[in-house]
Amino acid sequence: MSSKNITDSTIHDTSHITYEGLLAGNQTFVDKMLAQDPEYFDKLANGQKPPVLWIGCADSRVPANQITNTAPGEIFVHRNIANMVVHTDMNMLSVLDYAVNVLKVKHVIVVGHYGCGGVLAAMGNKQVGIIDNWLRNIKDVYRLYAAELDAITDEKQRGDRLVELNVIENVSHLAQTSIVQNAWTNGQDLQVHGWVYALETGYIKDLKVSSSNNDGLKDVFKIA
Ligand code: ZN
Repeated sequence: MSSKNITDSTIHDTSHITYEGLLAGNQTFVDKMLAQDPEYFDKLANGQKPPVLWIGCADSRVPANQITNTAPGEIFVHRNIANMVVHTDMNMLSVLDYAVNVLKVKHVIVVGHYGCGGVLAAMGNKQVGIIDNWLRNIKDVYRLYAAELDAITDEKQRGDRLVELNVIENVSHLAQTSIVQNAWTNGQDLQVHGWVYALETGYIKDLKVSSSNNDGLKDVFKIA
């Protein structure tokens, strides 16, 4: 458990959010954007050229655009539980292939966040449901770094470190995909990065695991 006392009154109030309210909010959004630029939607409708692919967690508190102060059209986004890059995930691979080979993004960023429920669940033994099979991938990350993680006695700190290691491993997975390897072999300008977002402060931490070529790949992962 967290050291903080978590009650309903200490979390963000969403009781005012209704289904009808979402549509009313959409009207407000359209009005606001058109007031700023009458051609705003015409330009967006003409196409997209986002320079970034974001692979983040599905958590509602980590929306790519808001936390980077960017707008529609500026970030191509894929989100799943615990920001995973799983090599058999056709959904992720399709997004990655389209982003790298069609949109020609310059950056792919795996973005985790401290306090990630998926990562914390993977650290425990409680059966949750279907999701256990997805989170099973994170247990492999734990196994790889078990010595380091088991040495951390504070549970929150251990969870935070597993969040970071999960990002680091998924950045490696990204670099191991045929999509990224081929882009680098062909001299494409493409960088992969790993970030962690702190819910408590709103700040992003760059884990400094960026890579822009195949040099860091272990031999067994190299595709000729
Ligand atoms: Zn999460």
